[in-house]
Amino acid sequence: MRQTSDQFQDIRDAVRALCAEFPDEYHRKIDAERGYPDEFVDALTKAGWMAALIPEEYGGSGLGLTEASVIMEEINRAGGNSGACHGQMYNMNTLVRHGSDEQRRRILPKLASGELRLQSMGVTEPTTGTDTTQLKTTAVKKGDRWVINGQKVWISRVQHSDLMILLARTTPLAEVKKKSEGMSIFLVDIKEAIGNGMEVKPIANMVNHETNELFFDNLEIPEENLIGEEGKGFKYILTGLNAERTLIAAECIGDGYWLTDRAAAYANERVVFGRPIGQNQGVQFPIAEAFIEIEAASLMRFDAAQRYDSGQDCGAQANMAKYLAAKASWEAANACLQTHGGFGFANEYDIERKFRETRLYQVAPISTNLILSYVAEHVLGMPRSF
Ligand SMILES: Cc1cc2nc3c(=O)[nH]c(=O)nc-3n(C[C@H](O)[C@H](O)[C@H](O)COP(=O)(O)OP(=O)(O)OC[C@H]3O[C@@H](n4cnc5c(N)ncnc54)[C@H](O)[C@@H]3O)c2cc1C
Repeated sequence: MRQTSDQFQDIRDAVRALCAEFPDEYHRKIDAERGYPDEFVDALTKAGWMAALIPEEYGGSGLGLTEASVIMEEINRAGGNSGACHGQMYNMNTLVRHGSDEQRRRILPKLASGELRLQSMGVTEPTTGTDTTQLKTTAVKKGDRWVINGQKVWISRVQHSDLMILLARTTPLAEVKKKSEGMSIFLVDIKEAIGNGMEVKPIANMVNHETNELFFDNLEIPEENLIGEEGKGFKYILTGLNAERTLIAAECIGDGYWLTDRAAAYANERVVFGRPIGQNQGVQFPIAEAFIEIEAASLMRFDAAQRYDSGQDCGAQANMAKYLAAKASWEAANACLQTHGGFGFANEYDIERKFRETRLYQVAPISTNLILSYVAEHVLGMPRSF
């Protein structure tokens, strides 16, 4: 009985078959080495999964966010971590939706073939955090170039990407009517930028997630790398963020299944006091509770994704899916670790790895409090709290 995870069986079977070639040992070794799963990401790219959202005319499979979410879910459900490559999915969608014909023709076929990677998105800044409209990075037009100055933090996969989408202010805050206006998004050629106005400083962190501080000192970008209209970048980024939240919800759902499967299997097999520990309700109930919440989160994920695919507003659903899924996967992680007793802490069980990996999603890409504020204000009509 797995109603929500019985849908899209063809995609699930194919992604599972690919993931089966990368067993727990592979992901464990990469985690221990703090490495990047190059072979895994290459295999996903070659099989076309990373190009799911690229329209067929540009060499992709022209699938929707719904199917993309199933791909991400299956990667995590198989023990992998989509965090190594999910950026490409939602970033390329920004290009598909808001890029010019020339940009689409220039970039999308190369992303589809794997010749280029678009894994990075630079939004967060150290001094302004979640208060994005206050960001300090600026882009100033000089002739046929944009000149970028400022700083970003927590920008992921920069060392494993060729391109990055960057959000910068193009009209000073004091000169715009609404603070969400006057920001623009740009395509940055990472390899060209490093050493020519962009410096990358890796941040050592709790998960094996390649993430960095970026410093911009007169980085020049050609004018044709502005995406969409000048000044509308924040709006474009928000569309991308809804896709990102929906995909990350799906990854948490995959983690949640992985964790509840492992917990139930161990609860059945581990005998203490002469009976399987799973016979005790104190062991069963947290696992069952997490499973129920994962199923519910999955329904909200499909609602968000289907709305996105049909062009409807999905801000509330994407946020709520992310909230429910991150909470459910974290509860599943806690239950799974507790069920395994001391063995949960041993690296070879992979549970402590998933525990760390799934915890991230209570904070990134949007923290739980900010989702609650969004729902309170935009869905329930209460006053804005900040
Ligand atoms: C591993 C990792 C990878 C990341 N990758 C990227 C990336 O690729 N690109 C990118 O742009 N960003 C990335 N981020 C940044 C991430 O999106 C932010 O960390 C996240 O949005 C939270 O912002 P912050 O860290 O600035 O926290 P802050 O904004 O400083 O908030 C700190 C805490 O205070 C709470 N808080 C703040 N204001 C309020 C309020 N008004 N009401 C209630 N609570 C409040 C928040 O909920 C949070 O818990 C990444 C972060 C991490 C940890």
